[in-house]
Amino acid sequence: MTHRNKYDGVIVGSGPNGLAAAIVLARAGLSVLVLEAQEHIGGGTRSDALTLPGFTHDVCSAVHPMAVASPFLRTLPLEDHGLEWVYPQYPLAHPSDDGSVAVLKRSLEETGQSLGVDENSYRGLVGPLVAKWAFLEQYVLAPIGIPRQPLFMARFGIHAIQPASRLAKSYFKSELARALFAGLAAHSLMPLESCGTSAVGLVLAALAHVSGWPIAKGGSQRIADALASYLRSIGGEIVTGVRVHSRNELPPSRVVLCDLSPRGLLQIAGESFPASYRRALERYQYGPGVFKVDWALRGPIPWTSRQCAQAGTVHLGGTLAEIARSESDSWRNEHTEYPFVLLAQPSLIDPSRAPAGCHTAWAYCHVPNGSTFDMTGRIEAQVERFAPGFRDLILARSTKSPTQLEAENSNLVGGNITGGANSLRQLFFRPTCQLYETPVKGLFLCSASTPPGAGVHGMCGYHAAMRALASIQLL
Ligand SMILES: Cc1cc2nc3c(=O)[nH]c(=O)nc-3n(C[C@H](O)[C@H](O)[C@H](O)COP(=O)(O)OP(=O)(O)OC[C@H]3O[C@@H](n4cnc5c(N)ncnc54)[C@H](O)[C@@H]3O)c2cc1C
Repeated sequence: MTHRNKYDGVIVGSGPNGLAAAIVLARAGLSVLVLEAQEHIGGGTRSDALTLPGFTHDVCSAVHPMAVASPFLRTLPLEDHGLEWVYPQYPLAHPSDDGSVAVLKRSLEETGQSLGVDENSYRGLVGPLVAKWAFLEQYVLAPIGIPRQPLFMARFGIHAIQPASRLAKSYFKSELARALFAGLAAHSLMPLESCGTSAVGLVLAALAHVSGWPIAKGGSQRIADALASYLRSIGGEIVTGVRVHSRNELPPSRVVLCDLSPRGLLQIAGESFPASYRRALERYQYGPGVFKVDWALRGPIPWTSRQCAQAGTVHLGGTLAEIARSESDSWRNEHTEYPFVLLAQPSLIDPSRAPAGCHTAWAYCHVPNGSTFDMTGRIEAQVERFAPGFRDLILARSTKSPTQLEAENSNLVGGNITGGANSLRQLFFRPTCQLYETPVKGLFLCSASTPPGAGVHGMCGYHAAMRALASIQLL
């Protein structure tokens, strides 16, 4: 039920980008309505009791370096609306079979020291990004544009554009440092031999030192709830349980912003687009999906290495070669035997997630787009490899294949969680060279399929909404 029959702005989808876009418009004094297909808000930023009563699991996003670093989210009073960040002692640990562990710490210097022979290389590679983050963020968390400090940006660009496997081998001597960087770059969901994968590795490493990799106390749902609560406090409206099938169903408005995949945009507005734009959206590439597991555990994960028990996130994939193999397999439509597993253990630093003495863990690996193959056994084998006895702690588990993820949120096309492939082309033209704009006046795209892409940061919504405001001459 809506309060008005006409709005200045309508937003389709209540993911972090949809809510961010709505907030930008509402702050400019516009009347705003958000329509969400699901009964709950948040899209990829949600929590639920997926396993047993008393256990709270993050359905999608769990770890939030980009949210705390987001230039837009930083301006919002989200703490006043119930959001509290909790920081693990170490952002990330990456164990090896020989018992050694690469640890990404808050301190750049301490991280370097822990990498032994690669101390200077690590500091030389990541240090300048940390030092100039305040400048760099405006380019990293925005559409790619012409930089103001061309020398510094050229140096960053020369590293960022390289395939992660090449940069890791040319910069680091030790297997440990190479594996650490490979794991960071693998968040791109691209084969590590692809150009541009180093960018993701470099940014995630820098963010560990700049702002940390926190989780939201009480669950990621709190992020969406805080955004929604703030939006309502400035007059915005949100209606859930309304799937938009066509833009003709929407109440009249000056602008419409779609927190949708290009496929979703085609479904609701395709017939209004010229054939060339339709074809460009149809050609948009999505990339691999993910297979996800959440566990309710009777105790903390029994890591062989103590440092893994102090890290919010643990990367399980052994060496650079093994991670590279896992990532290229999912691109080649194969289900890898030894998947690279990204694991988070929120209850270690947020006891509200599980009953006393018990714990939650969240993990996923990359699989072919649209896969229905059950990777549970292979994911659990990777955990067991670095934490013998893990399986004995499992009280209950919830699994989600790519097709199940997509059924719950149609933006996750084929289970792809990055809003589309992070190929070099799609880093520049996301989803087309028109970026947020569409050929229909007043109709914009604001999802992770626009720059700067995936992650909970709201910057896609922010940039799209700024263009929407400009289009109605409010800027
Ligand atoms: C398993 C998983 C793990 C992740 N882990 C992390 C992480 O740890 N850290 C991180 O930063 N990011 C993570 N991400 C990525 C992050 O969740 C997304 O990048 C982010 O949520 C994208 O936000 P969005 O607003 O663009 O879209 P979404 O969050 O996908 O929201 C889109 C919303 O639109 C709604 N919708 C779709 N179609 C319609 C329609 N026709 N009508 C009405 N509503 C519609 C959907 O129901 C959904 O609520 C993860 C994602 C997944 C799936």
